[in-house]
Amino acid sequence: MRKIGVLTSGGDAPGMNAGVRAVVRAAIYRGLEVVGIRRGYAGLLDGDFKPMALESVGDIIQRGGTCLYTARCLEFLTEDGQRRGYQRLIDADVDGLVVFGGDGSFRGAQKLHNLGIKTIGVPSTIDNDIGACDANIGFDTAVQTAIEAIDKIRDTATSHERTYVIEVMGRSAGHIALSAGLAGGAESVLIPEVPYKLEDVVAKLQRGVARGKKHSIIIVAEGAGHGGEIGRYIEEHTGFDTRVTVLGHVQRGGAPSATDRVLASRLGAHSVELLVQGVSGHMAATQHGELTSVPFDEVFQSDRKPDKAVYELADILSI
Ligand code: ATP
Repeated sequence: MRKIGVLTSGGDAPGMNAGVRAVVRAAIYRGLEVVGIRRGYAGLLDGDFKPMALESVGDIIQRGGTCLYTARCLEFLTEDGQRRGYQRLIDADVDGLVVFGGDGSFRGAQKLHNLGIKTIGVPSTIDNDIGACDANIGFDTAVQTAIEAIDKIRDTATSHERTYVIEVMGRSAGHIALSAGLAGGAESVLIPEVPYKLEDVVAKLQRGVARGKKHSIIIVAEGAGHGGEIGRYIEEHTGFDTRVTVLGHVQRGGAPSATDRVLASRLGAHSVELLVQGVSGHMAATQHGELTSVPFDEVFQSDRKPDKAVYELADILSI
């Protein structure tokens, strides 16, 4: 292993920069050359490479987003696109690649691995839906951002005695909603993985009001329903003054939490270590706090589902 490429792909996640910094510095520490590939697989196909030095990654550990930019690239879904990407790496003498991203980005990395490039994936998505590891980079920060917003909305909900429906990110995964709902003391948490009935949500709200509650917060993951529609239903069926807030992309930005910076630094450096050892087609991961690696095929079989006991606890504590 002489030269490593690093790219970020799919949705950005806070902590990606800390991870890229770790790859670059750990590689240089080991005497390897590093190139940054801008805009994910789109930049790979365009040959948008830049040599990385120690100072290329200075002053980024605390920044959200990704200094390498990210993109979704339809062309890379095709065999022809993958072969062109492989050739770009060969032409640039890159013999190892670290890919920060989610499930789709890992599928791309696996294709390059099959073609003969050593690849390691680093789980980076605020959705936290990549399994076979303790956590995905960006999730901790996204939950913290959601909580800060929920706490602020709670102040106004209390003052005006209102019901608030807060829609958080998570098209197919309810991890942000569940953690933010539990930590934010929500009355109900609606996630795509658990079927729910709006009649039950309304009944719970009415029970709360009957025992003197002045305000309520419902957290809904975007994949579990439309905040606006749920808010209208609640208002129509209770007569409670109900407002809706969609948090949207604020959850993707912002300075990464200490937890995400530590995770990204450990996984970034570990991915270089794995490449040096000749490991390929794997995801760098922590399991029970220990660094390890998991073959992509195993990762693809192990979607992380929200913890049922945590879901039930959120319900019990908001009785
Ligand atoms: P997020 O969790 O933020 O959605 P992701 O990595 O799952 O992140 P995708 O948009 O699914 O995001 O994938 C990112 C890019 O990876 C795609 O635009 C495409 O270039 C590449 N990719 C996705 N799936 C495949 C696949 N099956 N084969 C090859 N490349 C793929």
